[in-house]
Amino acid sequence: MGKIMTLGEIVVEIMATQRGQTFLEPGLLAGPFASGAPAIFIDQVAMLGQPAGIIGCVGDDTFGVLNIERLKRDGVDVSAIHVIKQATTGSAFVTYRKDGERDFVFNIANSASSQISPAHVDAQVLKDCKHFHVVGSSLFSFRIIDAMKKAIEIVKGQGGTISFDPNIRKEMLRIAEMREALRYILEFTDIFLPSGNEVTLLANAADEQGAVREILDLGVREVVIKRGARGSSFYDASHHVDVPGFVVEEVDPTGAGDCFAGTFVTRRLQGDASETALRHANASGAMAVSRQGPMEGASDMVSLLAFEESAVAFESSRSSM
Ligand code: ATP
Ligand code: MG
Repeated sequence: MGKIMTLGEIVVEIMATQRGQTFLEPGLLAGPFASGAPAIFIDQVAMLGQPAGIIGCVGDDTFGVLNIERLKRDGVDVSAIHVIKQATTGSAFVTYRKDGERDFVFNIANSASSQISPAHVDAQVLKDCKHFHVVGSSLFSFRIIDAMKKAIEIVKGQGGTISFDPNIRKEMLRIAEMREALRYILEFTDIFLPSGNEVTLLANAADEQGAVREILDLGVREVVIKRGARGSSFYDASHHVDVPGFVVEEVDPTGAGDCFAGTFVTRRLQGDASETALRHANASGAMAVSRQGPMEGASDMVSLLAFEESAVAFESSRSSM
């Protein structure tokens, strides 16, 4: 089985324990939890039994150890995680508004994760890599963009494939070089996994259908759209399918998109039909939101199948209301 790899931030997350709690006054916090979008993605891949590895940097501190030990426990190859002596592991502090929106205080741009550079990427590190996953929000410095481009070129050069979850904030696109980097990656992408509102951000068309067509015309083979509790959709050149999500109580939305992507990409590479992979990915996203902590809801295949058997799909829950 080919190895799936990714590159990017490995951080801890510390979150408010009450909805409506702010960081304007002291309050009870939970954590640290292992986190970082690429780290969550690759943890989910490893949980499904696929060989998996991550290229990244942590500081010489307990937050770094927590992440490395966690990823290792779940089966991720951590040999390309570098411990930077003079740096601190990245962190994200999260509060939840009453309406479910999240606010973050990030310490990532100045953390060990910002030290990732092309020097950490070479043919040896990517030797067995058959598939490489890019998270757009990891591209916060030119050094990281260069490292990512180098990895993509090596993996493509050895006949591998690329998946890309933009995970972008609109603000990022105001920087011309950032938009250019995201477009560059899109041209090498085989599987594109945007959230609903991200589909049109990198295309000229203003509507979803038009944007998807444009992206497929670029050479992207599959477009998978994440739609939160409503589930997800799949498009390729000849085929479009919508698969409803599963009904769960949302405890913590962070990490759903990354678990979803990890499961979709892995199951597709393992030979699932698009619709089957989408159902497993929806189950994976639903399980992720049911647990507190961004990586805590990553699931193995036995739990995904058990969940799918017992769970109710969004559409059927609505029609029975
Ligand atoms: P993030 O905010 O972490 O970037 P995202 O926008 O990338 O998330 P979402 O669409 O929120 O991704 O979630 C990914 C998938 O997880 C959805 O397509 C769905 O299958 C599942 N999912 C997310 N939220 C829920 C929910 N509340 N109930 C059931 N399933 C959910
Ligand atoms: Mg996302």
